[in-house]
This record gives sequence, structure tokens and C-alpha cells, in this order.
Amino acid sequence: QPKGVSMTHETHSIHDFDYRLICEYFASVERQGPGSPEVTLKALGFIDGLTPASRIADIGCGTGGQTRVLAEHAPGTIIGLDLFPDFIHSFNAKAQAAGLQDRVQGVVGSMETLPFADEELDLIWSEGAIYNIGFERGIREWRRFLKPGGYLAVSEACWFTESRPEEIERFWVDAYPEIDTLANKVQQIQQAGYVPVANFILPENCWTDHFYTPQVPMQERFLQQHPGNAAAADLVAEQRREAQLYQRYKAYYGYAFFVARKL
Ligand code: SAM
Repeated sequence: QPKGVSMTHETHSIHDFDYRLICEYFASVERQGPGSPEVTLKALGFIDGLTPASRIADIGCGTGGQTRVLAEHAPGTIIGLDLFPDFIHSFNAKAQAAGLQDRVQGVVGSMETLPFADEELDLIWSEGAIYNIGFERGIREWRRFLKPGGYLAVSEACWFTESRPEEIERFWVDAYPEIDTLANKVQQIQQAGYVPVANFILPENCWTDHFYTPQVPMQERFLQQHPGNAAAADLVAEQRREAQLYQRYKAYYGYAFFVARKL
């Protein structure tokens, strides 16, 4: 059974759940992790040289909220790849509805065994998903699929401060031990053979307006659809707890976007 899909990084508690429940929960919202169209476009603004012949991969694309923004503003063809067939099904239906089916295609696959040739890609995109393989392993392993001069654009959970309250430290270290400061992530990028082109912190509305708030009405519906289902109740409780932790501790952590160019 695949690891947790949730943005929560609460993979420990989530991965015991029926993954169909998790997919059902997250398939009904536009984004499966923090982000926004504005942030996708901001990151895209640091990337030069794309043409209609460019080949782009969006890894851990989910249902493709960010992929469609990318497709509407960048030339080239985009392969969206995700582990969960239900997400890819929704991804392809939405690409079709947006008239993007000729340039955007979703495929089921794992970020651990990417179906690309060496130096095939001009751009690897991945929002809120590289943690599934681990940041350092991901940037190192994916590099070979990029052409020399190709770009990597990933978002990743980061600490904003040198130290933080114990409750939030424990939550994150338990869920994703690789969470680290932006400075350390940039160093990893450099050491992995990329030029760090840009990095910026995602604004709060990526977590609130675009991620947690749309879940609120959906959670009630989800609970009504699964009466007496303890796994469904736990899933909702975990998401609510994560949203509360964010409100309390958002000064200490968040997501950052990293744009890098392969040497
Ligand atoms: N990029 C989307 C977004 O920002 O809305 C989705 C982010 S969601 C937090 C993480 C995604 O990674 C999920 O869609 C999940 O199914 C996918 N995922 C988890 N493990 C994966 C793996 N090994 N290979 C590919 N995708 C994976």
C-alpha cells in the first residue's frame, strides 16, 4: 500500500488508512498541498528558454491544479506523474475539460522509478511532493533526466528559524525528518550539481485560502458520507489538527520554492 498522500506529511498516522479514503478526500479539492497559481507563476518567472518543443514533467502532480496553471503559461508538453490512479484519472479529465489534452498528459508512476530517458527533460516541476522520496535523494536522482541547463522547480517544507517550540519540532521531525532551513536546502542543491537560481517562501494564503479553507466544508460532507467509519473520522481529525498547528506555529515553518539549473 502506498505511503500517505496527504500534504500533512503525517505519513505515520495516515499510511495505515485505506488509501482510497485518502484519495477520495483529496481528490475533491483543487490542491493536495499548499500552493497557489500566483506562486506557480512566480517560480515559472525564473525559468528561461522554454519553447513549444520543451518537455516538462510535473512529479507528484496530484489532480493537477498547478499543472494546468503551468500549461496555460509555459510552452511545451507536460507529463504529470503520480502514484495514485484516481488522481491521474481526475488529472486527465480536467486537462481535457480545459482543452489541454494535446499538451498535458497524466501517467501513473512512481517518483522513485521515473519513466524518462537521461537528459530528456527541459524542466522538472514538483510542488509539495518531493518529500515522498526525500529532498536530497530526489534532487540527486532526478538530475540525470534533465538536459544540461535544464531547470528544477520544487517546493519543500522548511524551517524559518534556527530553533522552535518543542511541539512543532516533534510534529515535523516525526513526519518528515528532512525538514531543514532554506540555507541548508540551497546548499544541498548546490552540492547536487545545480546552480541555485532562486528561492522564496510561499505566502500564508497558500496554506489557508488554497489548502486548509477549501477542506472545511468538504470535511463535513466527507464525514456524512462515511458514518461510523473510524478511519474517515481520524483522517479528518488529523487534517484539522494540522491546520491548527499551522495557525499556531506558522512563524517557524512553511513551504519554500527552489528553482535551480542543472550545471
Ligand atoms: N503537486 C500537487 C499539489 O501541489 O497540489 C500534489 C501534492 S500532494 C501533497 C503529494 C503528491 O505526491 C500526491 O498526489 C501523492 O499521490 C504523490 N505521491 C506520493 N508518493 C509518490 C510517489 N512515490 N511517486 C509519485 N507520486 C507520489
